[in-house]
Formats: sequence, C-alpha cells, structure tokens
Amino acid sequence: MPESFEVKADPELWSSLDMDVARFGNVPPMLTEAYRNIFLRQGNRPAAMAYFDDMVRNIFSGRIREMVDAKKAGRPVIGTFCVYVPEEVIHAADGVCVGLCGGSQGSIADAEAILPRNICPMVKSAFGFKVGRICPFFQVVDMVYGETTCDAKKKTWELLEEYVPTHVMEIPQMKRERDKKLWLEEVKDFKSAIEKITGKEVGAEGLKGSIEVLNAKRRALQRLNALRHHDPSPISGRDMLLIQQIAFYDIPERFTSRVNDLCDELERRIATGTFVAPGGTPRIMVSGTPMALPNWKLHNIVENAGAVVVNEESCIGTRYYKDTIDPDGSSLDAMLERLTERYMKIDCSCFTPNDERIDQVIRECRESGAQGIIDYCLQFCHTYNIEAVKLRRACEREGIPFLAIETDYATEDVGQLQTRVEAFLEQIQG
Ligand code: SF4
Ligand code: SF4
Repeated sequence: MPESFEVKADPELWSSLDMDVARFGNVPPMLTEAYRNIFLRQGNRPAAMAYFDDMVRNIFSGRIREMVDAKKAGRPVIGTFCVYVPEEVIHAADGVCVGLCGGSQGSIADAEAILPRNICPMVKSAFGFKVGRICPFFQVVDMVYGETTCDAKKKTWELLEEYVPTHVMEIPQMKRERDKKLWLEEVKDFKSAIEKITGKEVGAEGLKGSIEVLNAKRRALQRLNALRHHDPSPISGRDMLLIQQIAFYDIPERFTSRVNDLCDELERRIATGTFVAPGGTPRIMVSGTPMALPNWKLHNIVENAGAVVVNEESCIGTRYYKDTIDPDGSSLDAMLERLTERYMKIDCSCFTPNDERIDQVIRECRESGAQGIIDYCLQFCHTYNIEAVKLRRACEREGIPFLAIETDYATEDVGQLQTRVEAFLEQIQG
C-alpha cells in the first residue's frame, strides 16, 4: 500500500555529517509524498520493483550508513557529476563512486544566493545542496571529481572547491586523434589522483576485474531496456527512469543482480501477457539532458497523459550503458586505451561535431518502437538546446514526430507542458 511507504529519517547520522538537520528534516516527508503519488499509485508494477522502492526508502539513511562504513574501512567516497568520469578506475582503487548531479528545486535558492540565476538547474541544484548542507551524499564524500564538459560546470567547480576538495579533469570537445591522446593523458592523471586518495595502486588485474563488474552492470541495463521495448510495455517509463537514477548511488554488484532479477520477471510477464499499459498506448521516447533524482517531472506528465515512455537517450539512460569495454588487455596501458575509447563513444552535446548522436537517437527511436520523440532540455543548457535543431531536422527527414521542450525543476510550467504533451499525443495518434 502506498501509505505504508516512508522515506526514512536519520537525524543522528545527518548530524554526524554536519548537515543542516533542522532544514533537511522536511525533505523525507516531501519525498515520501511525491514517491507515493508518482510511483506507488501506478497499477500493475513488477514485484521486483520492491528492491528499488527500498533503495528510495533508505536513500538518506541506510545507503548513507553503508558509505560511512566504507569510509571507516578505508574506502574513500568520490562524488562525480558526469558519465565521462571513469568509475572503473575508482572501483579498481577500492573507492566508492556516487553521482551527485542535482535534480531538486529545493536547493536552487541556496545556489542562486551565490551563482547567477541564468545557468542550468542541474548545476545550481548540486551546488545548492553543498552550500546549504542539505544533501547527505554531498556531506559523505571525501572529494568530488568535476569535468570541463560545459561552461556552467567548469566555472562552478572553482567555487565548489571552497566547500569540498574538488578535482577537475579536462574532457576534450572534439574527437580527433589529438583529442583522444589528450583524453588518454587525462585518464592516466585521474588514475594517479585516485590512487593517491585511496592509497591503493590500480594494477592490470584489478582494472580488468572492475571493467568486468561495470560491464555486467551496463549489460544488465541493456537487457532491461531491450525488454521494456516490448510492445505493450511490461514496465512503466517512470520505473525505468528511477532504476537508471539509482544506478548512480547503489553498489554496482548488488544493483546488477537486482536488475537481472527484474529482467527475469519481465521475461515472465511478457510470456504471460502482463503489461503496464494495453496495446495501442502511445509510445514516447525521451532524448536530451539527464534527469537527476528526484526529477520525474516530464515522465510523470507524459504517463499521466496516457502514454508510456519507452526509452531515454540520456546520460541517465542509454548514454550511460550502451557501450562496454573489452576487458582483454595484455597490459594495464592497453586496458586504459580501451577504456578511453569506450568513454570517447559517449555522444554528449558538448562535442562538435556530434552527428553520431543524431544517428543514435534515430536508431534508438526505431529500436524502442517509439512513435515520437520528446527532446528534453534543461533551461540554459546551450549545447543540447542548439543540437535540438539538427535533431528536429533529422526527425522531419525520417517522418518521426518531434517535440522540443525546455524546462527547469519548478512546477509553474507543468500545466503548459501538459497541454503541449497532450497535443503531441493527439498528433501521434492521428
Ligand atoms: S550530458 Fe554531457 S556533461 Fe552531462 S553527464 Fe552526460 S556527458 Fe556529462
Ligand atoms: S544539462 Fe547542459 S548545462 Fe546542465 S550540466 Fe549538463 S551539459 Fe551543463
């Protein structure tokens, strides 16, 4: 029953992490309410979602305690903001990696007291969490690793350094041979920095093992995404988005095993004809900027309007798991090269040119059986916003209905977005 679900509070733990406990105390009840309404009132959810519900229940308590215990056992916790930061290296050095991108309106005002207002809400939300001391994940990390993907991020790191040790790696903006060489050098520097923090050297065997662990995680997500493409869908877009968000804060090995359990259940559901929406339900693919927890705004609007989201071309989506790394390497250097090649395939809009992303979006639309694409852009994200022009043209060429929306985490535009989404669904259904 939705009413029995509660996001757990742990003021003693929060206090030990120097959080603003009085203020943060309001967050679990708010998240509880949102989670009940958005997730637990859905009909016919797979039983294996219980594990992911539990991850949300423990998001500010049990999972944080696990990280505190890891630190006590000598395993530093490293926060990241981008899927370009190679988590295989952190894993191989016995560190704990956690994604810190912000998806909440609740910390924006804290950020805007310092940062300009007209930058991306993801950056503001994350920065505000740290400044306001209202995110236990931010409080538990030993250091963060930022990158130079976009202007908002790279300049914010200079300020974030005043609150938490902040390292920055340079991500090239093109994919020429000379850029690939720079990237390999950056990954080698990253490895040295991580080894220094953890006090553990990354050797060939260790890296191979970690590549296999993360490959298994990405393959489980590939398997899950392929199953959810079944028409009719055996799982909702909201639940899929949630799982892809939890991927950034759960223990990789445990997460992989639970995703595979869910896949087994979805296979049984497909075999027995158990679906979350009847055949003929409009199928929508979402592309664009990542949706960090607890940003469920667009999926909630689309699925409440009677459609089902069948794919996320996003870094909290397929960009995170579409590629794996060949773990066979005669040497550590050979493995690092393969690792950097895999990361260079991530088609973030910060690259120019980036036509492979356009092809990838069209391919994913076909594979998922989507009838239309909603391109989601966070306000002030210039690269994704401008890239939507090429995406629209490609969709027009391919005859794929296309809707571009630009929004933030506030609720003021929900009514207007609902109207636009409903009109788009009518267009799709002819
Ligand atoms: S959209 Fe670009 S900057 Fe953002 S997480 Fe993905 S790769 Fe990194
Ligand atoms: S959504 Fe765009 S502006 Fe925001 S952090 Fe990512 S790349 Fe930067």
